[in-house]
Parts: sequence; C-alpha cells; structure tokens
Amino acid sequence: MNRSGLTASIVFTCLLSTSIAWAEEGDCVRGETTHGGNWWRETAAIMGTDIRVELWDTDEQHACEAIAAVMSEMHRLDEEMSPFIETSTLSLMNREAYQSPVPVGKEMFDLVNRSLDISRMTGGAFDVTYASVGRYYDFRKGQKPADDERRRAILSIDYHYLAMNADDDSIGYRHDGVYVDLGGIAKGYAVDRGIDILVKRGITQGMVGAGGDSRILGDRFGEPWVVGIRDPRNRDKSVAVLPLMDVSVSTSGDYERYFIEDGVRYHHIIDPKTGDSARSVTSVTIIGSDATTTDALSTSVFVMGVERGLRLINQMTGVDAIIVDGHGELHLSDSLMEMTASNQ
Ligand code: AMP
Ligand code: MG
Repeated sequence: MNRSGLTASIVFTCLLSTSIAWAEEGDCVRGETTHGGNWWRETAAIMGTDIRVELWDTDEQHACEAIAAVMSEMHRLDEEMSPFIETSTLSLMNREAYQSPVPVGKEMFDLVNRSLDISRMTGGAFDVTYASVGRYYDFRKGQKPADDERRRAILSIDYHYLAMNADDDSIGYRHDGVYVDLGGIAKGYAVDRGIDILVKRGITQGMVGAGGDSRILGDRFGEPWVVGIRDPRNRDKSVAVLPLMDVSVSTSGDYERYFIEDGVRYHHIIDPKTGDSARSVTSVTIIGSDATTTDALSTSVFVMGVERGLRLINQMTGVDAIIVDGHGELHLSDSLMEMTASNQ
C-alpha cells in the first residue's frame, strides 16, 4: 500500500457508481457473513447530513453497541457545534464573543485552532469566519445577501479576528459582525472521533462517514473499500472509483447545497475574499490520513481552484487530490498521477 492508502490505480469510469450501497436509515443491520463474523451497518440523519457506520465483528451486541456509541457521539458534537441549535457552544460564542471572550472548552478551542492552522496554510481560503457573510445565504430557500449587504458583511470575515486564549480555552471576536461556522471541518472531526471510538472498542475493520467525509479503518479481508466520486453534473454517474484502505476521503461539491438564479449557481462553499460562491471548480476530493484534515482541505482547495490548490497539495506529504474543473476535466495531484501511470 502506498502512502496515501490507495491500494491500486484509480479506476476512471463513466459507469454507474457501484460504490458502497447503504441500507435504509434505521437500526443496526446485519450484512454479509464472512470470516467467522458479520458486517454490521447503520445510517442515521444527524448534523444535517447522513451518518454511516459499518464494521465487521463476530458479536452482534458488541457490534451494535459500538455503532450506537458512534451515533451518540455524533449527537453530542452536533449539540456542541451546530449553529442552528441555540444552546450549542458555537451559538453562545456567536452571540457573546464580541462583547467578551467565551470559554468554549478544550475540544472546541482545539478544533477552532486547527481551523486557524488550515487558514494560514491556505492563505485564508479556509476561514471559519466566512459565515459573517455565509449566514445570509439560505440555499434551501434560494436566498442570498443583497450586494451591499454582502460587501458590508465581508468586512467581518478574517480569521485574525478570532482572539484565542489557551489559558482558559476562551475565544473572543475582535470585530463587530463576526460569525463562525465550523461546517467545513466539523463533519471530518466527527468522523475521526467515531473511528477513535471503534478502535477503542477493538474494531479493526470498518468505516465512518458523514455526508462527503469518510474514514476507513483497515480493509475488507485483503480487499480495499471502493469509494466512488460522483460526476458533479450527473448523480447517477461517477468520474472515478477509488480503492482505499486505512485512509480518510472527503469530497466537496457545488451540487450539495445550491440554487440557480439567472443562470448562476449559488452554493455553500464561499470564497472569503468575495463572500460569493467559489466557481472555478465543481468538485474536490482529498485523500489523507485523518478526516478533520481532508474535510477542511477539500473545502479549501475548492476555493483555491486547480492551480493554487494542487500546488498546496503537492507540497504536503500523504495528501492527494482529485479535482473536477468547470469543464468536467479531472486534475490529479502529482503522486496520484505517478500512481495511475505506473499501474497502467
Ligand atoms: P464541505 O462540504 O466539507 O466542503 O463544507 C462546506 C461547508 O463549509 C459549508 O456548508 C460551510 O459550512 C463551510 N464553508 C463554506 N465556505 C467556507 C470557507 N471558505 N472556509 C471555511 N468553511 C467554509
Ligand atoms: Mg470539506
């Protein structure tokens, strides 16, 4: 297995996606019987997305309790970090941190700090204060900020406005109108926490997914997991199929939450410089070791575009990217290019 966890060449395809088929939402479901045990899986709607957990175990109770523990961790993180739940720590911060610093607890403090690392690494393409403008969009209702409202709110986007105090894990806002949303990193973080729970319970093979963010633990008895990257303009087709083991994979796409007005697509990934949706690419997939990083980087590279995005990814070790540009063309990071070339 190479460093990015791809087990063989990527298979580029125009076929129907045959990637992991999931059961209907519901309780712990028994899957295939193999190697003296079973695959078990469950899906649930949490954090505004579909959460998927699958694992192999010899014992039904042990398997289903592990899955339930992951699901309850997802609920806990949602209650902590959702901007839509009034009692969440994030909502408290957004209400009060401009008046005085809010102690947010170590977990939230560390995650915001991690997001600041990514902001510095990406020249501000990733910026959790994007939401100072982002809060005025409602993609379900087809609402966007008026131009003057957007221009005014952009003045409150800047990750330097977050005053981090490690002494009491508090965060203050240095500028009026700052609003934070962790939607570009929290799902990946939740996936990593889910995998930690499985590992602590002795699970050696499984996967946890939250929307476009997944992490794979081990393999499928010598076979890789197969994850399809969908064609951004045709949900029934995939542009590539990735055989993966022991890695995280995140996809950000402009088809997840969007509306079209006067022929322009308004979607949920916002360029912090303009306060408008980023439009140079249509989908970005990042493969790396942990889902917190792949989640944040898929959003970042979406904003950075092909050239800047690939330059960043090619500088990093153990991280790969597959980008679909506005013309439907695929662009791969250097080590993926080498891998596909050497496997042909
Ligand atoms: P993903 O689907 O992982 O790419 O995440 C998209 C989510 O990230 C959006 O729904 C927003 O909550 C958040 N987001 C959008 N633009 C940015 C940005 N420039 N920096 C950080 N987070 C963002
Ligand atoms: Mg992401």
